[in-house]
Amino acid sequence: PVVTRFAPSPTGYLHIGGGRTALFNWLYARGRQGTFLLRIEDTDRERSTPEATDAILRGLTWLGLDWDGEVVSQFARKDRHAEVAREMLERGAAYKCFSTQEEIEGFREAARAEGRSTLFRSPWRDADPASHPDAPFVIRMKAPRSGETVIEDEVQGTVRFQNETLDDMVVLRSDGTPTYMLAVVVDDHDMGVTHVIRGDDHLNNAARQTMVYEAMGWEVPVWAHIPLIHGPDGKKLSKRHGALGVEEYQAMGYPAAGMRNYLARLGWSHGDDEFFTSEQAMGWFDLDGIGRSPARLDFKKLESVCGQHIAVMEDAELMREIAAYLAAARKPALTDLQAERLEKGLYALKDRAKTFPELLEKARFALESRPISADDAAAKSLDPVSRGILRELTPMLQAASWSKQDLEAILTAFAGEKGMGFGKLAAPLRTALAGRTVTPSVYDMMLVIGRDETIARLEDAAA
Ligand code: GLU
Repeated sequence: PVVTRFAPSPTGYLHIGGGRTALFNWLYARGRQGTFLLRIEDTDRERSTPEATDAILRGLTWLGLDWDGEVVSQFARKDRHAEVAREMLERGAAYKCFSTQEEIEGFREAARAEGRSTLFRSPWRDADPASHPDAPFVIRMKAPRSGETVIEDEVQGTVRFQNETLDDMVVLRSDGTPTYMLAVVVDDHDMGVTHVIRGDDHLNNAARQTMVYEAMGWEVPVWAHIPLIHGPDGKKLSKRHGALGVEEYQAMGYPAAGMRNYLARLGWSHGDDEFFTSEQAMGWFDLDGIGRSPARLDFKKLESVCGQHIAVMEDAELMREIAAYLAAARKPALTDLQAERLEKGLYALKDRAKTFPELLEKARFALESRPISADDAAAKSLDPVSRGILRELTPMLQAASWSKQDLEAILTAFAGEKGMGFGKLAAPLRTALAGRTVTPSVYDMMLVIGRDETIARLEDAAA
């Protein structure tokens, strides 16, 4: 059975690169009845904060990437890591190194002076334990010095590391705390992780980590090191390209389903498919589809995909996400009346918006209360003639049955009688109802806000 994991370090917000790594792991596991685990790599006590952990969990939750079981804290497992370091000692796969920092520096200086490799070669590697002093020590891995360590990577292909280029890395520090490189392997092994899918900035670590697996006689997981995300200009992604935090995208009003779809396409492809649901992606996702060159962030594509998702979202889901968006963007929540009108009007709004703020702008007629203020362009359509027309129209609307057909019949007949095109009639109506020149159809607006509110707005505009 497949077991994947996402293993962020809680030192800041959830980066979209991290969000994509989590998504790939989630898709891979979910599409194979597998398990997707979450481990917070909080061993760096200086840089790890509980706030960062919360932000990561919030970001994953918003993206809908649910993990199985409890969140694992790497720091909480430090005794287990130390135990494995001791086991490595017993197996002869590691040794106690008593070299002091000064000695190590002295070694490097001499190596530099003689033009040799500065990789530290500890004199304790083959020392007789009987000669060990009663002094602080670190535990170092007894890494092979010849031959090569080969990584069979599902994305990068076969990657070879010459063992002579790697030193005997420290696995346990002199204060008894494990190093990151040891902790990752012990945790992945104990958690039963079968597939490690992560950024290719960890590719070099995979060689050292493989040595630990081999030293312990543990099965090496399947590796898939994915290229990082680049900016639209092909350069390493940075703040100047735009938002980097997953939660910032929520606050900009992108729907989670659209974000998942877009992030899935960022570095992975399935034929020409651009728009798909997460269920489809689970069925399709495979490591073969991951590209070897960095994907570029493309905001146009993100918006287009998000627009397609908004168009097909269920009303209840849309309302929930819009409420969450408003909270994330620190905007006032909708009142009951606004929510009621918005939900009623969604059918006329959702196929035209790429983001929630765009949808809400088009929903002005449903959200504003009287008196409706008009922008300059809309105000122009309210001259004395059109005011008169609105006045004449009111009694006819009083008598209407308020079905779409009936409203259509009344307005078309009225325009015909006045010898004016329908557009000419619609302009002051749009201004009266929404205060804008671009709105959903006048019928849809009237149906959503109802007769009394329609007539009141027409009267306001005609006054
Ligand atoms: N904690 C590491 C990071 O945030 C990930 C390590 C891994 O996935 O093996 O970059």
